[in-house]
Formats: sequence, structure tokens, C-alpha cells
Amino acid sequence: MLGVPGAGKGTQAELLTEALELPHVASGVLFREHLSKGTELGEQARVYVDRGDLVPDEVTIRMVAERLSRADCREGFLLDGFPRTVAQAEALDQTLTQMGTELNIVPLIKVSEETALVRLGGRWTCRKCGDVYHQLFNPPQVEGVCDECGGELYQRSDDTPETHRHRIEVYSEQTMPLIDYYRQAGLLVELDGEGSIEQVQVALRMVVEQACSA
Ligand code: ADP
Ligand code: ADP
Ligand code: ZN
Repeated sequence: MLGVPGAGKGTQAELLTEALELPHVASGVLFREHLSKGTELGEQARVYVDRGDLVPDEVTIRMVAERLSRADCREGFLLDGFPRTVAQAEALDQTLTQMGTELNIVPLIKVSEETALVRLGGRWTCRKCGDVYHQLFNPPQVEGVCDECGGELYQRSDDTPETHRHRIEVYSEQTMPLIDYYRQAGLLVELDGEGSIEQVQVALRMVVEQACSA
């Protein structure tokens, strides 16, 4: 799944993987798990995540490849937030070839920069399960509490106005080249991400089901 930070990738991926009973492999969530557990990988990633820069490819690729090698990914998976550079995309191609599989589709969720900033500005994340909410557009039933698991909601330390702008620049420079990469591979499907969470989900579900049944 491709899209600028704040496009709604995590939100859409969570709904889709619940419906299709597939693992939701989100590199940002994996980094946050390592950070909260204080692992060595987490310590290596911390400065980059806090600044809103990309964690070096080598560390990121190793972490995601390890996740994809687990048994629950054998029947398929949804990648969210990875790859973010051409080098990561090339490494992913190699990993998938080794696994004897390939990508079915690369949905690109398109929103304006203004929409992305408004969405990021009101994002609340569950400390326990990683689910995301929005203070206006998708509020939890009880303020500060996750509907799914009862965990505490917090604002990520990299969810500040300065970091948001920087992350959007990083996306333009390092991740946008992947749009052409996957267009040339015939995998890219562009979706309008400006609608409601439900509207985007309906459109996404349709294109993914089509691509995976073909
Ligand atoms: P990404 O993973 O692309 O960075 P998220 O899924 O974390 O994006 O969404 C960013 C914020 O926008 C969250 O607060 C989420 O609740 C909210 N959001 C996601 N999709 C929509 C939508 N279609 N309309 C309004 N708000 C949305
Ligand atoms: P967002 O939902 O706002 O797009 P993520 O949760 O996907 O943010 O990522 C948070 C941070 O984790 C990024 O700013 C970056 O530091 C790091 N990160 C996540 N995925 C990658 C990746 N594929 N390559 C390098 N760094 C990554
Ligand atoms: Zn939760």
C-alpha cells in the first residue's frame, strides 16, 4: 500500500486485513514495537523515527523480511509503509522470489497535502494494539481509550507539525519514485483517498479482490 503519511494506509489496511483474515505487516508498527521493547534494532531506529527520517534500508529490509518469513504470512499478507525506497522495493522483489510468491496489487491512496496534514494533526494511536483514531473523523467511543483493546491512546512523538511536514518531504523525495516503479510493473492501482473511511474501504476492497482472484 502506497500513500503519503496521513493518507489512511494504516486505517484501510487494518479494515481490509480483518475482512480478508490476512496479516497486516506495517513497518512503522514493527519499529514502534521494537522501540517500546527497547531492542537493539529499536535503539538503532530511534533517532531516525523521532526526526521523521527513514530508517536505513538495511535495518528496515532485515526487519520486514524476518516478519514475512513467519508462518502466518504463507497464505498472503498486506504490506503497509514498506517499501518506501527503490532499494527496499528491489529487496522485496528478491525476498518474494525466494518465498515463491509475488505481489498481486499495489494500491496508491491519493490525498492532497492539506488533507494529509489535517489527518496527521488529529491522529491518536493505541499504545497496546497500534490501532489509529482521529479526534474529529474517527473518534473512539470513550476519549483516550481504544475501542478494540481498551489500551491508552497517545499522540506519537513523531506526530508534531514540524515532523509532519518533513515526513511529507521525505515521502516526495524517496517514496514517490515507487509510484513509477510499480506502474511499470503493471501493479499500481490509484484510489481517491479523500472520501470517508468507509468509501475508501469499499473501493479498496473491490480492486484488491479483483487483483487477488485474477
Ligand atoms: P497513514 O497510515 O497513511 O499514515 P493513518 O491510517 O494513520 O494514515 O490515518 C491518519 C489519520 O487520518 C488517522 O487519525 C485516521 O484516523 C485518519 N483517517 C484515515 N482515513 C481517513 C478518512 N478517509 N477520512 C478521515 N480521516 C481519516
Ligand atoms: P505514517 O503512518 O505516518 O506514514 P509510519 O508508522 O509508517 O508513519 O512510520 C513511522 C516512521 O517509521 C517513519 O517516519 C520512519 O522513520 C520509520 N519507517 C517506517 N517504515 C519505514 C520504511 N519502510 N523505511 C524506513 N523507515 C521506515
Ligand atoms: Zn488498542
